[in-house]
Amino acid sequence: MGKPLVAVFSGAGMSTDSGIPDYRGPQGLWRREPDAEKLVTYAYYMADPDVRRRSWLMRAEIGALGARPNAAHLAVAELERGGTPVRVVTQNVDGLHQLAGMPARKVFELHGTARSVVCTSCHARSEMDEALARVAAGEPDPACRACGGILKAATVMFGERLDPQVLGHAMAVAKGCQVFIAVGSTLQVQPAASLAGMAAEAGARLIIVNAEETPYDSLADEVIREPIGTALPALLARIGS
Ligand SMILES: [Zn+2]
Repeated sequence: MGKPLVAVFSGAGMSTDSGIPDYRGPQGLWRREPDAEKLVTYAYYMADPDVRRRSWLMRAEIGALGARPNAAHLAVAELERGGTPVRVVTQNVDGLHQLAGMPARKVFELHGTARSVVCTSCHARSEMDEALARVAAGEPDPACRACGGILKAATVMFGERLDPQVLGHAMAVAKGCQVFIAVGSTLQVQPAASLAGMAAEAGARLIIVNAEETPYDSLADEVIREPIGTALPALLARIGS
């Protein structure tokens, strides 16, 4: 018998053990700033150089956290290495699944990635580290080297649509998997959250690993409330054996 296709859907709770605070929302981390929402809202960002300057400073601060993959990220990558087909669909922008060893082509980042920057004019992509080095060197709002356009993190800001291609892949994974594990997500941000329902409807075994209740708990075959750092490795070891 072939091994089941396992979809791991991860939210902010997946990365709390890596030192990234768990705040709700597409860019939840930012909400600790008084008007933080402006820093990650496309229209404000594009209109106001001061918003951009503050946004880059926040990125630098987050980068300085030096977040590393935790036991849960490592367990997902290990399941994949062990021969079980795994796809990751994530609401996180931290890139920690890939750092843990998941092949990038098997990770679908619904809200983009904070490890890259993109030009809002010519769409050229480059490394976040390089942009932050320019900020540190005295360019408060570094412009695109190719065209002079406004640069932004390659994350989905408020007021921006999810990448339809990434969303399409995520939906295909949800509909095609045999096991759908939602980890560390309150499953309240749409359309991402609806993937859990889509998977259950298509006949997948739905497992929810989250500290708090989610709107999909009643649909789930299994709900696990233990800490993710221990619960997920144990669950995946069971699935992979
Ligand atoms: Zn450009």
